[in-house]
Amino acid sequence: MGDHPVREEVSNHIDRMTMTGWIADAPLLDEFTSRRDIYPYYHVIEDRPTPGEVVVDGIRAVNAASTDYLGLTADPGVRAAASHAAAEYGTCWTGSPMLGTVRLHHELEEELADFLRRPAVMLTVTGFQANLTLSSLFDTGHMVIADQHIHASLLESLRLGRAECRRFGHNDVAHAERLMRISADKGKVPVIVTEGAFSLGGDLCPVPELAALVKRYGGGLIVDGAHDIGVLGTNGRGVGEHFDVEEGIDLITGTLCKAFGSVGGFVAGSVKAIRSLRHLGNAAMYSASMAPASAAAALAAVRTARARPELRAALWESARRLHRGLAQQGHRVPSWPGPAVALPAGQPDQGLKTLEDGLKTWRAFLEAGVYTGAFLPPSVAGDRLALRLSVTAAHTPQQVDRILEVVGQLLPP
Ligand code: PMP
Repeated sequence: MGDHPVREEVSNHIDRMTMTGWIADAPLLDEFTSRRDIYPYYHVIEDRPTPGEVVVDGIRAVNAASTDYLGLTADPGVRAAASHAAAEYGTCWTGSPMLGTVRLHHELEEELADFLRRPAVMLTVTGFQANLTLSSLFDTGHMVIADQHIHASLLESLRLGRAECRRFGHNDVAHAERLMRISADKGKVPVIVTEGAFSLGGDLCPVPELAALVKRYGGGLIVDGAHDIGVLGTNGRGVGEHFDVEEGIDLITGTLCKAFGSVGGFVAGSVKAIRSLRHLGNAAMYSASMAPASAAAALAAVRTARARPELRAALWESARRLHRGLAQQGHRVPSWPGPAVALPAGQPDQGLKTLEDGLKTWRAFLEAGVYTGAFLPPSVAGDRLALRLSVTAAHTPQQVDRILEVVGQLLPP
């Protein structure tokens, strides 16, 4: 989605806010949250008539805003596992996993460790929390070197940790190497932090090159696999398997709310790293453990994903259809034909009007029967809104074609 100027430093400064009372004013928020006609967030999903559709504001629409990549939220076995666990274990395990856990949590950790071929896995309640726990690993002797486009949860982790942090231009290996040299000059241990598949730009991280930097300069490589675990690689083990460099990745973090149709997160890595996270990772150890129903759903989903590679094949079929159709219409599509594509919307360079235009386009998509995800700057580069269209194994070819038809009507390239 274009390039930001790279700000190497990681600051706590929040743009677009002014302090007049104890809650800061954010003019953009005031401007758009009151506009129910175009405000794109927190809508109630009133129904899911089919796995690929939703009803929002009374409108039946193809769901192009979902990352239920393998369609497992609708899988009868996954749903039954969740109900059964709630009946057997109750609704929650009131409190921290340190003070007691259920067998299901262990089974899920073992299943994920076996699936990802990692010695150990720690569960967390969300993927965001998994990334936050990383902050406990970042110490004054480290320099954390992170991609410019990392997810907010990784950014917060950098802010919470005690290490000096620098960011490199998105997927810019030469820039990362310059920072590795600075780290070496300062006598620090470098830790590269990035994502396997970037869901907005639709591109993959150059893991082989980053792993080679770690081999050369020492340190570690952490990859957030939220959008590639379960999706990429012959067996779904993610970007490491895709590039055949799994041993070059030291820690993988992930979510269970995308390919694995549940709610939860995890960190996978060495026994030493996971032991450290279990005992020093405040974000998880002083928080609740996963609800048994969520753990059971995730466990059933991981097993189903492993046993049914045809689900990944169906996802890729949907993704290829989307990319092919967009390219035929003249849209710029990412080089990697992943399941999500973000298209810019709104006339550029007109300030707030650019955003309003983009939001009106989001609404027009919904009214035409396609529910999309809206991403606003600064979470996307430039001044335009990005409409993210994502497809899954649950979409029928007709539903993908409907998305394409509406793009053709509303978003000329
Ligand atoms: N990392 C990435 C790259 C994400 O897109 C997300 C958002 N789902 C997260 C982490 C956080 O995961 P969760 O939703 O499970 O908190």
